[in-house]
Amino acid sequence: MSRLLEDNKKNILRSLPSVDSILKTERVKLWLNEYPRGVVVKAIRQALQRFRTDIEKKTTPDITNILELSYKTLKELISPNLQPVINATGVVIHTNLGRAPLCQRALKSIVALSSGYSNLEYNLNDGKRGSRHVHAARWLRELTGAEDAVVVNNNAAAVLICLSAVAKPGEVIVSRGELVEIGGSFRVPDILSFSGAILKEVGTTNKTHLYDYEQAINENTTLILKVHQSNYKIIGFTEDVKIESLVHLAHSKELPVMYDLGSGCLLNLLPNEPAVSDIVKAGVDLVTFSGDKLLGGPQAGIIAGKKIYIEKIKKHPFARAVRVDKLAIAALEATLLEYYLDPNVACETIPVLNMLLQSKETILKRATVLAQNIKPLNPEIIEETSRAGGGALPEVLLPTYALSLHPPFEKFEETLRGENPPVIVRVNKDKIILDVRTVSDEEISTLTGILLKYIKKR
Ligand SMILES: *Cc1c(COP(=O)(O)O)cnc(C)c1O
Repeated sequence: MSRLLEDNKKNILRSLPSVDSILKTERVKLWLNEYPRGVVVKAIRQALQRFRTDIEKKTTPDITNILELSYKTLKELISPNLQPVINATGVVIHTNLGRAPLCQRALKSIVALSSGYSNLEYNLNDGKRGSRHVHAARWLRELTGAEDAVVVNNNAAAVLICLSAVAKPGEVIVSRGELVEIGGSFRVPDILSFSGAILKEVGTTNKTHLYDYEQAINENTTLILKVHQSNYKIIGFTEDVKIESLVHLAHSKELPVMYDLGSGCLLNLLPNEPAVSDIVKAGVDLVTFSGDKLLGGPQAGIIAGKKIYIEKIKKHPFARAVRVDKLAIAALEATLLEYYLDPNVACETIPVLNMLLQSKETILKRATVLAQNIKPLNPEIIEETSRAGGGALPEVLLPTYALSLHPPFEKFEETLRGENPPVIVRVNKDKIILDVRTVSDEEISTLTGILLKYIKKR
């Protein structure tokens, strides 16, 4: 019996076509018109190798598929690694999936600004060297009410440079309930120690009072820091100090207050997420937030606040190391302009806001369309909850509609991940859940096409 199998294996291996003979097929000749010969040959070799491995593993491969597999390998060889995916998880600000999709104005701006030269650091009025910081700052002053603003690479960098420029080498007072870790690598105590400032913890995990801060202030204190708890929430017997009271205390001792807002929403739209302008109005000296969370723009760290501190930050030696690139400035400026022109329109056109504020009816409509399209897979429309993600609104439930379906075969979730474009879904027990809150109307037809293939295969 095993002898037979061995012989069979040898036969199959022997019957594998040669690279040369594959290159002579009509189909491959067409590829050679389009792609470099070297890459086509490499793809065929790799495909043949995969067949050999399969045969060794005693699975019987289908040799008629060799051209299919060669073509798939070819496509993989010439595709960038970073690629668009369809986010059917319902997590709006999904850090692993690139956070905020950009609005149309930002996309246009990126193309316009990067296909040629720009006045990135050139003053068009006097023909001399200019500053990259002036562009976005103009809109940020308008939208936050702050005296001035500066943009850096991301919010982690924003917090770091603020602490280095303003708090080092003194003591920074932080509530124990706010010593959070965000996304694995941003930990408030670590950033503080890296900045050269000294952490002075006050209060307890669940309760910090104004007098805790008051008692901790001494001649070495340089800053009071408040941190948004992000995706972590202490519930029950809790207390923290209002930002207004902190500002009042700090300023009476001639100390600055900084607030790491994390997500940072420019509008007052969401429960428990104050608008940045409210925080500025409360009198904080510096507020930091991300460009690609609730703001819905590119990756960036935004620092808004008092001019004297912003100047210090711009001149700090770290500034060059954490500086924002021109594509991010282009996208950020365009996104901010969208808010400035009409906040109501911005809620429609900025994808993050649009997805967060979508009505249940809109989502149901989209779910119904998709369910109709893929009827043979027997999807069921169910009520589910989406999440904001990005550390925003951890306790807010966003009611949504999702498609729940029995996977047509094992490892269906994995298969969807291998699609072009990959489809990222949620799995709940033995069901595949597609939350359409984060799938755009344009993506519905692509998603339909992908899912329909598996109806035929059943
Ligand atoms: C997300 C977040 C950060 C880090 O911001 P990045 O833009 O990811 O660098 C820092 N602080 C808080 C409170 C956050 O929520």
